[in-house]
Formats: sequence, C-alpha cells, structure tokens
Amino acid sequence: MHILVLGSGGREHTFAWKLAQSPSCTKLFVAPGNAGTAAIAQNLALAVDDFEGIAAACVEEKIELIVVGPEDPLVKGIVDTFQKDPRTAGIPIVGPDQAGAQLEGSKDFSKRFMQENNIPTAAYATFTAENLEEGLAYLRQQPLPIVLKADGLAAGKGVLICESHEDAAQSFKEMLVDKKFGQASSKVVVEAFLSGIELSVFVATDGTAYQLLPAAKDYKRIGEGDTGLNTGGMGAVSPVPFADSTFLSKVEERIVKPTLSGLQAAGISYKGFLFIGLMNVGGDPFVIEYNVRMGDPETEVVLPRLEGDFALFLKGMATGTLDQAKLEVSSDTCTTVVMVAGGYPEGYAKGDSIFGISEAEALPGVQVFHAGTKKQGDEIFSNGGRVLAITGKGKDLEEALAASYAGAAKICWNHVYYRKDIGQDLLALG
Ligand code: ATP
Repeated sequence: MHILVLGSGGREHTFAWKLAQSPSCTKLFVAPGNAGTAAIAQNLALAVDDFEGIAAACVEEKIELIVVGPEDPLVKGIVDTFQKDPRTAGIPIVGPDQAGAQLEGSKDFSKRFMQENNIPTAAYATFTAENLEEGLAYLRQQPLPIVLKADGLAAGKGVLICESHEDAAQSFKEMLVDKKFGQASSKVVVEAFLSGIELSVFVATDGTAYQLLPAAKDYKRIGEGDTGLNTGGMGAVSPVPFADSTFLSKVEERIVKPTLSGLQAAGISYKGFLFIGLMNVGGDPFVIEYNVRMGDPETEVVLPRLEGDFALFLKGMATGTLDQAKLEVSSDTCTTVVMVAGGYPEGYAKGDSIFGISEAEALPGVQVFHAGTKKQGDEIFSNGGRVLAITGKGKDLEEALAASYAGAAKICWNHVYYRKDIGQDLLALG
C-alpha cells in the first residue's frame, strides 16, 4: 500500500516511523515532513492545505491511503474536497469530514454537542458582539475563576482563565469587540472552571467500531513545575497512573459511547482519531475539549505502545473495517521529552546545527522523533520552536524517564532547552 501522511511535526514523524515498520506499507510519503521523516519516507514539498497539489501528488504516486496529522486541513474540509474530486474520491482518508471537524473547529459547536448528548462538561454560555451587555451581566454572576474561550481555532492561545470579574470583563470585550483572536473570537464561550488533574484519552473509530487507545498526560507549560507560558507541549507520559480501569470505564460509558452515537445521530460519519481532553474531578471525568486528530507530543508516547500492523489499522479506520484490524497495547511505559529552541514559545532562533542524534538513538529504549528540523547535506538544523521529542520506553515510569533523559543528554545545539521534570508529579503520586 502506498501511504501519504500529511504534516511536519513530531506526531507525523511518529506516524511515519510506525508505518515504516508495517508489512502492508510498501511506499511511504510525508508532506511536507521534516529531517526525521526524510530518513524513512519520501518527503513531498507540499503544504498541508495545498489541496490541489496534494491531489495531484496522490495521482502521481498512486496513493492508496491518506493520513491527516494536523487539524487545519480537516477543519478546512480536505475530506469533503477529496471525496468530490474524481482523482481522489476512491482514496480512503483517516480524518473526519468538515462537519465532524467542527468538534475542534468550533467550541460553541462542541459544547452544544456535549449538552445535547448528556456528556459531562463544564457549564457554559456563548455570546457574540450582538449580546455583549447580556454577556457582561452573565460574567458578573459567575464564580471565580472564569474561563473564556474563543470559539474558533486560535493556535492553543484562545483560552483565558480570569481570576477577577474585572479581568474577565476586559478580556471578554477584547475578544468580542477588538477581535483579539480575529474571526476565531467573534463568538466567545464562557465556561465554569473545573478543578482536577488533566489527561487525554484517544479513540480510533471507523464511524461505527472503535478502539480506545492508551491514555496520556502532557505537560503544556514552558517552565518546570508547570509554570510560565503555554506551549504546544513539552513532554508526555503514557499510561497515566491515576487513569485506572474504573476511571477509564467511566470515560468509555459516559463520554466515548455517547460521543460516537451523538455523531451518528447527527449524520456525521466520523472516520479518524478523536482526542478527548479530560479533567479528572474527584474521580469523575469531564470533557475539557475535543480535538479531531492525535495530540502532539502525546502521539510520541501512544503509538510506540501499539503492537500490530499499523497500516492495516489505519486502513480499517478509513474504510469501516476497524473491527478486523484492532491493535494490542503493550504494558510498557513511554515518556517523551520535547527539546525546544531557547526563547520558545516566544521569539527563537532557527538554523542551529544539531549534534548527537545518532548517539541518542543508539541507546537502548530511546527513539528520537523530529519536529522542527531540516536536513542540509549531512547536517541536521533546527527549523522550528519544538525541535525534537525524545521518547523513552521502559517497564515502568522511572525506566522510561531514564531513557528519555539519557537520550536528551546526548543531544545539543545552541540555546537548546527542555524541562527536567517531566513525569515527576506522577512519580510523587507513588
Ligand atoms: P490546546 O489547543 O492547547 O489543547 P485549546 O486552545 O483548544 O487548547 P482548551 O483545551 O479548551 O483550549 O483549553 C486549554 C487549557 O485551558 C486546558 O488544557 C486546561 O488546562 C485549561 N482549561 C480549559 N477549560 C477549562 C475549564 N473549564 N476549567 C479549568 N481549566 C480549563
């Protein structure tokens, strides 16, 4: 099978790495890819939203399965566009159509969906500039802190947690009136604050059958002890010790099943990954958000724990035959530590020469996944904020973390930074 993966991050390198081990994958392409994917697949210099270029490449390279990594092309309707295009109509795609992608593309849509399907989530109300005064009055009545969310995609920056009513009113006006997040904040969701521990659960579905994939916990903040600015993710761990079988069966019964049946009832044929961001509130799961693709860096700890033919699994998701292609999950622990360019998530340098990747990969249990990297000649250079994800595998959390950090210690470039405390909170839980 000729397979095309769309994207250029650590998530897509991990997909490509897993597919490269699959007996049913005979030729692998990644668009646009990075230096890591170039070593195991053929990179195609195409942006993920260049639908015309991708369709032409599908014909040229006789692509038989497309795997969409990031949310952007899904929210822009790549699945619908390709289904209508005679050149690509017959090619199975892993990823929901535009209607399904609204679960991530519009927070108002996803909150309404949860309410209609009795899925546990924080209480909320949605406002636009037209009912600004009503919104301000609503805000004054809410207990603190108050969560404000831009309705549309805002690159992970559209959520504000306000500690005072004045702050909330100010930010609310900035979002709706001053369009702080552009069109994404033309609607604002005001949500009650949930207090608990966050984790993510992943579901692979073909629209009917589904498989729950291992849960993961990610570390979003730039600083140790979860301080400082939010990032795309600084590390991740799977499994999550506090997500035991009792908790996960609550997630399955109260959230996963009603979500999939709600999609079916809405006439949405959802073939793809569903990422459910959860808050564990005193042992009960509440949905914080849906994402319509795998997480990054969670993919770097979830996929290495899956065993079986990954290409057949993805094809099963895209063609409604997942029941025949389910995967086993290893009992090992995986951790990943994300190495970033100094200054990230604000300004940072690109183009620094990276040393030590092959030394890190030679260590037992270590796998280096590339994100913002570029190859020139024989050298690898940094080419983004998040540069590498160092995954360690071991029989328990200590062993996996030791592998991740031994790998990271072998790698250097100018101004490299990574958190030294990934997983420490979980170790402290005992
Ligand atoms: P990302 O793209 O970074 O995953 P997002 O912009 O889509 O995030 P959310 O995941 O909805 O937005 O919120 C971002 C973060 O804000 C959450 O991971 C969580 O830490 C916090 N958060 C969101 N909603 C709530 C809530 N109701 N109560 C407490 N914390 C919340």
